[in-house]
Amino acid sequence: MSPVEEVKKLISINSVTGSEKVLGVYLEERFRKMGCETRLFEADENRFNVYAEIKGRSLDIPGLLFHGHLDTVAAHGMESPFIPIEKDGKLYGRGSVDQKGGIAAVISAFEETLRTGKIPGKTIAFIGVIDEESEHRGSMALENMGIKAEFAVVTEPTGLRLGIGCKGTMPIRINVTGQAAHGCRPWLGRNAVVAGMDITQMLMKEELPVFEVEGLGRLQGSLNLGKIDGGRAYNIVADRCSIWFDRRLVPGESQLAVLKRVKALVAEYSAQNGILAEAEIARPDWNWEPIKARGLLPALTDVSSAEVDEVKKAHKMEIGSGPELFFTDGYQEMDFLINDLGINSVQYGPGDSSLCHTDSENLDLEQLELCSRVYLNMIRLLCG
Ligand SMILES: [Zn+2]
Repeated sequence: MSPVEEVKKLISINSVTGSEKVLGVYLEERFRKMGCETRLFEADENRFNVYAEIKGRSLDIPGLLFHGHLDTVAAHGMESPFIPIEKDGKLYGRGSVDQKGGIAAVISAFEETLRTGKIPGKTIAFIGVIDEESEHRGSMALENMGIKAEFAVVTEPTGLRLGIGCKGTMPIRINVTGQAAHGCRPWLGRNAVVAGMDITQMLMKEELPVFEVEGLGRLQGSLNLGKIDGGRAYNIVADRCSIWFDRRLVPGESQLAVLKRVKALVAEYSAQNGILAEAEIARPDWNWEPIKARGLLPALTDVSSAEVDEVKKAHKMEIGSGPELFFTDGYQEMDFLINDLGINSVQYGPGDSSLCHTDSENLDLEQLELCSRVYLNMIRLLCG
């Protein structure tokens, strides 16, 4: 199947986070029938990661691993989320760009590799994971699955640019508990909203770390105040307030150290002002302790590696110039591959990532075809 037909098929299988099973089972069969060795791994109840490999002559670990996530965000207000619509060289549908396009490009490159009948020198692998859009249970399971590779490509959309790193992200909630009183006698209460404002200002004033990425420039950690909830009525001293922050981490920062610093500042404020304030890792969709404890960490590719040179060559063979390198302010699951598995990884995939999660999500089909050929080049250059 062409990558275009392939991605249409993948979009037609609804795999909104939590319901990835049907897609996992489909992919396992799709890869097995083309000649791969495959397995399903239950990463969460009735939700499966899918692994496929084309065995190489060498018995070593795979020379190249493609990583993609099976889940998508909900359909929200999309016109036709699961019946893809093709228009002006674009394919509209939920998951088209995020990131069934990347997976379709891998399937086509694998099929093409097998069609030659030639056994590659090194094994080529694909891992499809669940739950990327929420608690990352799929990529959290990679260590337990025993996933290994010399090098990995995360197939999330990059517009065919080469992603060499990502920031980490920490959802922090500050909970402030004060004491209610009648609004006519505020001196009898302890105002949690006022304390929350003080704490917010204190945190926003902190100088955040800077990291220099060779050739790309300066990155800085960031802190966004996303949401404040507090108080009960205009004429009551507010006795509770919660404030949500999104703290983005640069390479070298750890969730543990940042949380420790925030907790210390908040504790100091509490002691000085006789009010109870506490900081915690919290996100509305995170109920699973392991992800709260681990967090989503920054990651950086070793760009001096021979594999990165081959990836650049694979791109250039098809496109003629480039690829442009970038470091994303966003978060990518290359974090798990680099930080937990020790696999040097890049991000490279078809489509415009600014369309992810939008109601007009669509995939540029020319990029999809190009990407599939670049993946095939990567396979040939890295696995022989
Ligand atoms: Zn994605």
